[in-house]
This record gives sequence, structure tokens and C-alpha cells, in this order.
Amino acid sequence: MELIDTHCHLDFPAISNDIDGVLERARNNGVTRFVVPGVSSENWSRVLELCAEHEELYPALGLHPCFLKADHGADLMRLEQLLKHRPELIAVGEIGLDLFIPDADLQYQLEVLQPQLKLAKEYEKPALLHVRKAHDQMLQRLRRIKLPAGGIVHAFSGSEQQAKEYLKLGFKLGIGGGVTYERARKLRQLVTNLPLDSFVLETDSPDMPLSGFQGQTNYPERVSLVLKVISELRPETKLEIARNMLLNGRQLLRI
Ligand SMILES: [Zn+2]
Repeated sequence: MELIDTHCHLDFPAISNDIDGVLERARNNGVTRFVVPGVSSENWSRVLELCAEHEELYPALGLHPCFLKADHGADLMRLEQLLKHRPELIAVGEIGLDLFIPDADLQYQLEVLQPQLKLAKEYEKPALLHVRKAHDQMLQRLRRIKLPAGGIVHAFSGSEQQAKEYLKLGFKLGIGGGVTYERARKLRQLVTNLPLDSFVLETDSPDMPLSGFQGQTNYPERVSLVLKVISELRPETKLEIARNMLLNGRQLLRI
């Protein structure tokens, strides 16, 4: 069995300090590929370096809506240069809209999002999206721009209706620790109801701990626990679900 963690911040110190141990434990749990999204221009170089040192790590770069600076002009120019010259970049992300954070400025977030979506379109890369309480606003933009390589809505938390809209636009839903909580009824129902080609697996390590691990650092090895919970919700075998998740991730990310 081979699994992909389609969203893990392995460059964050909680993990990068013991990267070899983290990757070994992940491998022992069947996790063989890792997508590492950059969240702000300050960590882009670190993400690229780390991914250059480990061939099973795949970098993506973007400006995350929770880490925005007052001026993003230079960062956007640098992002375009990197997309042009670094073919190892598999996606644009992590980018998005977050109306959950206090004092969220939707206008400003859109101002940074829009040019990044354009880059994803121009360079035909998938977009790795972070969206909280802003799915309709995001869907509206995606319908207009029509990304040729689709993308992933990471840690999806919207409604089934919104999920179906993303799927129509060529997106997959990233399923991680959230689904391991029994109280996440809406998400669990969606994971039970939608076809298997709707999903990819992720952890968002070192964040978003699974049920039973609250307050602890999260690790990519726990993709296997996310898979286990999904297999308890669905009729297919664990192996069949794993095969589908691998195929979905490899096709979308071209890895
Ligand atoms: Zn993330």
C-alpha cells in the first residue's frame, strides 16, 4: 500500500528538526510521497531546499491568506519567476480565502488570491486551496477563471452542495484529521456519500491533530489513520480506497 500526504508543512520547525525520523515513520506506515506547500515568501526557500534534499517531497509555493503582509507585489513577482524557472514546483499553494480569522479582510485576501489563481492558470498548475467560511466566494472566482489543472481544497469543511461544485471545476477534496472526529457529522456524511474519485488524503502536519491526539504535533504517518476511518465509513475495503486515493493524488498532481 502506498499513500500520499497531499498537504504537510514539513518545513515547520516542529517537524523539520527531526525530518529523517518523521519520514521514516511515515514510510513505515505506507506514506511514500509528501506535498509541501509554502505559505509565505519567507519560507519558500526553505521549502525548496528541503524538497531538493528528499526526492519523495514535492514543493508548491503560494501566499496563504492567514500570513499576508501589507505589500505583496514583490512576492508575486518572485512567485512568477519561480514558477518559470523551477519545474519541480507541482502546484500553486497554499493560497485561499479565510473569513474565520478575526478581522479578516476579504477585499485584501482577494487582491492577493486573484493573481495567484492567474499564475496557476498560466502555468497550468493545480491550486492548493485553504478556504474557511468563504466557499461561495471562492467558487465564484473559480467558475470565472476555470483552472486547467484544477486543484485540491485542503481540509475541506463546506457543504455537500459546495463539494459537488468544486468537483465540477476539477478539484478534489483534501480529507485529513477532521474526519476522525465523531462530531464532524457533515464531513463524515460527505466522505460516505461522494464517489471515491472525489478525495485525496492529507494531514496538514504539524497542525490539525487527529481525534485522540489533540494538543499534539501532527505527523504524515497519520495519513494511514485517516484512511482507516474512511474505510470504516465506506463499503469498499481499505486497500481499494487506498488505491483510489493514490491514483487521485498522482493524476491531479502529476507525480
Ligand atoms: Zn496548510
